[in-house]
Amino acid sequence: MVAGESGLGKSTLINSLFLTDLYKDRKLLNAEERISQTVEIIKHTVDIEEKGVKLKLTIVDTPGFGDAVNNTECLRPVDVEFMKALQDKVNVIPLISKADCLTPAEMKKMKDRVREEIEKFGIKVYQFPDCDSDEDEEMKQQDRELKESAPFAVIGSNTTVEVKGQRMRGRLYPWGIVEVENQSHCDFVKLRNMLIRSHMHDLKDITCDVHYENYRAQCIQQMTSKLTQDSRVESPVPILPLSTPDVETEKLIKMKDEELRRMQEMLQKMQQQMHEQDL
Ligand code: GDP
Repeated sequence: MVAGESGLGKSTLINSLFLTDLYKDRKLLNAEERISQTVEIIKHTVDIEEKGVKLKLTIVDTPGFGDAVNNTECLRPVDVEFMKALQDKVNVIPLISKADCLTPAEMKKMKDRVREEIEKFGIKVYQFPDCDSDEDEEMKQQDRELKESAPFAVIGSNTTVEVKGQRMRGRLYPWGIVEVENQSHCDFVKLRNMLIRSHMHDLKDITCDVHYENYRAQCIQQMTSKLTQDSRVESPVPILPLSTPDVETEKLIKMKDEELRRMQEMLQKMQQQMHEQDL
């Protein structure tokens, strides 16, 4: 999911990342139409192939997110709120778009500010795992650079330009060319490598083992408390805390399921007895 206000460069970034043009048929909307489509969420599926590995990616773009909210007097509280709402559901990777609009000094300040705000508001962003201690020095160095670069500052472009006889994605300005894949221009390559190469498995594992398991535990918790309320019987087993499910939590969930099954059987028996008495 790529989320943020209209005009930030989300669609261009996706096109640059996956070398597609997701929106070639897109109709540009006027301001009024944009506001009415604020909550519209668009999903695309693209098949990409990276070094012989075929991937089916689902990209969820959120056109217009935040457009209808008055967020003129802030440091984007809407971004903070959105990240907070998502932090327990997905891996949050904050980005700074249109990196070519800031000078290196301004970019440094911006990155520091984003880091400070993430800390201040307690936003849980994706944590890069520690590099194995037996990795070679080059890998360790790459890992350090990756961590130090976050939040990644990226540039997107829908067009290719010619640089020293080679065509590449870039933005042509009267004073020069900004190259999307040039590491001294922005962190685009770092982002793409981590998303679809180095950290893809970790991102999937965290999604599956932490976010999905938390969601499952939360659903079971809601279902059980609703059933307990409905049957007006107090639960003898404490409601599960929301945390990363471990063996203990799984055991508790099973106990709870078993207990509910027994309660339902008991209720059915009672209802049957009452019915028989009525007759
Ligand atoms: P979206 O509404 O967030 O999907 O934004 P778009 O991808 O449609 O981009 C909005 C405008 O910003 C377009 O005119 C793009 O050409 C421009 N844009 C996109 N990425 C960049 C970038 O990295 N740098 C600059 N300077 N402009 C960009």
